Amino acid sequence: MKPARTEAIILHTFAARERDKMVVFLTPDHGKRKGWAYGARSIKSRFGAALEPLAKVRLVYFEREGEEAVRIESADLIRSLFPAQQNLLSSVAATYIAEMMDTFAPAEDPAELMYRLLDRSTEALLEGAPPMAVVAYAEVWILRLGGVFPPARNCIACGAPLNRPLRFDAALQGFACPDCAGRDAYVVANEITDALEAIGKLPAADFAARSTPDEVLFEIRSLAGSIRRHFLGHELKSFEVLASVASAES
Ligand SMILES: [Zn+2]
Repeated sequence: MKPARTEAIILHTFAARERDKMVVFLTPDHGKRKGWAYGARSIKSRFGAALEPLAKVRLVYFEREGEEAVRIESADLIRSLFPAQQNLLSSVAATYIAEMMDTFAPAEDPAELMYRLLDRSTEALLEGAPPMAVVAYAEVWILRLGGVFPPARNCIACGAPLNRPLRFDAALQGFACPDCAGRDAYVVANEITDALEAIGKLPAADFAARSTPDEVLFEIRSLAGSIRRHFLGHELKSFEVLASVASAES
């Protein structure tokens, strides 16, 4: 067996057997993968702190044909999330973004853009960017890259070009023109559309530095949340935790 080498970001780990860990990680070239880290739970583990959630690492692993999980040989830490974890909201935001990635990233397929999004979002949190701006950014982009966020240029029903204000029709799960949108369609205020466009154009850190008002971030997150729940049929596990920490801090 030849060892494979890749850069990766750890999404989550769980304890397995007495001394081992099962590690779920995201790579640019092979999307989401999982692997065994033998002995990772013992005190003198050779993996050290490299297998903590959202750590960016250089991995060496072995892969056996027909087996889903690889065997992780070594993990060298490139960047730890530890400094951001000293702030409760950043830490919970990071967990939430990791769960979204885990849910939407393709398994064993190239995921260069998802990887870069996770890398940049984590970096922004580490640099002290406002956590909820980074969360809103990641929520919209993960849905976009997953092909779930509807395009806002043309009406989803008749194809006519859309003008402002945009209308989001939950029954159609898309943006619709005034003729096609139902009476209870959500009329998207222009400043929310502006912020959505900024998310589409700017890197995570630049969007976060734009100091988008809390109400606007809230509306973006509500819209992204309703699209995500409709697609998944359920809410993410860490959603409530993030909501309660965010409201306690605001
Ligand atoms: Zn229409």
